[in-house]
Amino acid sequence: MNTNTNTNTGVGNTRVWQVSGTAPQAGELAEAAALMREGGTIAFPTETVYGLGADARRTEAVERIFGAKGRPSDNPLIVHIADTAQLAELTLPLGAEEAALAERLMARFWPGPLTLVLPVKPGAVSPRVTAGLDTVAVRMPAHPVALQLIAESGCPLAAPSANRSGRPSPTLAAHVRDDLSGRIDGIVDGGAAGVGLESTVVEIAGGDSVRILRPGGVTAEALREVAAHVAYDAVAAPGAGMGEGGTAADAAAAPRSPGMKYAHYAPQGLMQLVKGEPDAVSAYIRAETAAARERGERTGVLAFAEHAARYDADCVLVVGSLAQLETAAHGLYGALREFDARGVQRIWAETCPEHGIGHALMNRLAKAAGHAVVRV
Ligand code: AMP
Ligand code: MG
Repeated sequence: MNTNTNTNTGVGNTRVWQVSGTAPQAGELAEAAALMREGGTIAFPTETVYGLGADARRTEAVERIFGAKGRPSDNPLIVHIADTAQLAELTLPLGAEEAALAERLMARFWPGPLTLVLPVKPGAVSPRVTAGLDTVAVRMPAHPVALQLIAESGCPLAAPSANRSGRPSPTLAAHVRDDLSGRIDGIVDGGAAGVGLESTVVEIAGGDSVRILRPGGVTAEALREVAAHVAYDAVAAPGAGMGEGGTAADAAAAPRSPGMKYAHYAPQGLMQLVKGEPDAVSAYIRAETAAARERGERTGVLAFAEHAARYDADCVLVVGSLAQLETAAHGLYGALREFDARGVQRIWAETCPEHGIGHALMNRLAKAAGHAVVRV
């Protein structure tokens, strides 16, 4: 690193490097890459959210991720690579048809927010990464800082989201600082993350089929352009945990993606999702916020831009636009953290149709609300 051009404003023992999110300069990541090679834990931006990375091959390094996050040890980590050549070091070969589908998925979506669950090569990564499963989840992030850090460190990086476990994922370096300062070795600050929601996790379900284990930045519609069949794990289907399509039992069933069973992304206030016709939703939320204020509670509403003016809660936050749901994906976690910063105790959230990125958005929102959904 060139210390003349980088500001190090770390807290505790956590170094912070400011870098360009679009074109990191040669050498800017050298110190972070060196720390990574030595078994350090470094947070860095990706096109989904900020990740907390460590060398996936070193158990003591990976254990420091779990420790810093307070993450349950049965929740496996995604391994991030910068070059498809690294796949051969990490995974076992697939059958011909599955391999052809995997190739097409990688060609279409990598680098990008698609994670593939593949058979792990024994001994290739720490058993802490796979939580003892015989598969490993791998993706190639579409972010110049992430790609350069992986390449420069020479390590496959195990990297879950860089938040304390249970908190909303970080979309800014400031969120990482709030959660993990003093608990990790460094933060590469490359500005805002991209999509704002985590990757889509899929497994190849035989032949020309993929199964979505966790909805995310790559939509089912986009996957259907590449795979003949796209199925869902029960907990990942549209409607799962939203009181329709799936059921609460689905949401509680043992998912194939272990992380799906955890209450995640939760703000500190109690949140409820409200489904129905927009006018009925607004009327319900206005009545509920008024009643809660009467009781002396600090109220919040998470609304789409089109409806925000309808509410007069203590804290009305616009998640994004219904007409452009990508903006809502981008804004969700920041908004959940903002409710916490403003001490909001009760939150009502509008909902959107579960297609395209709306599916992943509602999946995260339902989890943030602990699956408390009311239909009006
Ligand atoms: P996070 O790192 O917080 O984005 O979470 C990673 C997600 O990938 C969690 O939902 C994990 O359960 C899932 N995952 C990681 N490895 C595997 C695997 N080998 N099989 C199935 N799901 C996995
Ligand atoms: Mg996470």
